[in-house]
Amino acid sequence: SAKDSNRNNYQFFTPELAQQALGIRDLDSDLRRAVQLGEFVIHYQSKVDLETGKVIGAEALVRWQHPERGLLFPGQFINAAEDSGLIIAIDLWVLREACRQTREWQAAGNDEITVAVNISAIGFRDKDFVDNVRRILDETDYDPRRLQLELTESVLIRNIESSRDVLGKLSQMGIRLAVDDFGTGYSSLSYLRQFPINVLKIDRSFVSYIPDDERDALLVSAIIAMGRSLNYLVIAEGIETEKQRTFLRGELCQEGQGYLFGKAVSAATFGGLLALPAQAA
Ligand code: C2E
Ligand code: MG
Ligand code: MG
Ligand code: MG
Repeated sequence: SAKDSNRNNYQFFTPELAQQALGIRDLDSDLRRAVQLGEFVIHYQSKVDLETGKVIGAEALVRWQHPERGLLFPGQFINAAEDSGLIIAIDLWVLREACRQTREWQAAGNDEITVAVNISAIGFRDKDFVDNVRRILDETDYDPRRLQLELTESVLIRNIESSRDVLGKLSQMGIRLAVDDFGTGYSSLSYLRQFPINVLKIDRSFVSYIPDDERDALLVSAIIAMGRSLNYLVIAEGIETEKQRTFLRGELCQEGQGYLFGKAVSAATFGGLLALPAQAA
């Protein structure tokens, strides 16, 4: 069914196919140039408190402003960037720029605003990762408690000992740690308990068909209830309808993201949104 294929959205999209589809002859060398010349931009998607309706932060999502191809989305280049290792530099650039920009919004009167940054598996595994994060926070004068790093389950369980070590160091710095796309991996909550994680982000594929799909509704309710009882902050991704929002709020899911509240937008546009009076829930 569409639902199943949506959920198992593994990418059978090889770098070669991506290259062909984009009409780029050498995606790797283009990417290398993009890193050198700084062709990436960040779009910010609102993260909303489901109880109050207030924007409490943003997720930083990378885009590539390709000189010939226009604005490219992560699905079009992240795999290639991972294969070449360039993702490490891209993620660190995103982290630095997101901290710099968010610090500016905080200074302009949005003191409480937070930002979430996605970290790829190889970036997380890089031996200099923790030091780089520490240096970036230092140089951007950014409060670690207002930063959330998003990792997927598969990243964490690949090497449990080192994951625990790295997460422990980040957590000690005060950084909030989130499991992204929660539910799509194979780890249970009891398994995740061994890591110092604060946030669970329920994957969009579970949110899409609630509340009408009874099984998904039960599953999402159970994740929220169990997550909350274990003291996680629970966020739902991909909220597109009022019905979904109402259901999630009723189940006491604390935060949400999705097209209902807004797509990812440029820093200038997001800054404008922050300046608006809070919308009623
Ligand atoms: P993600 O971290 O799970 O981010 C959510 C994705 O779902 C984003 O796609 C977002 O635009 C999209 N989305 C949000 N709300 C809705 C909705 O209501 N409906 C639908 N249909 N989609 C929604 P995007 O920006 O294309 O990013 C895709 C993935 O690429 C991200 O998934 C993340 O895994 C990865 N990514 C994005 N930025 C970075 C980055 O800076 N570094 C790394 N390593 N990965 C990144
Ligand atoms: Mg994410
Ligand atoms: Mg996600
Ligand atoms: Mg997702």
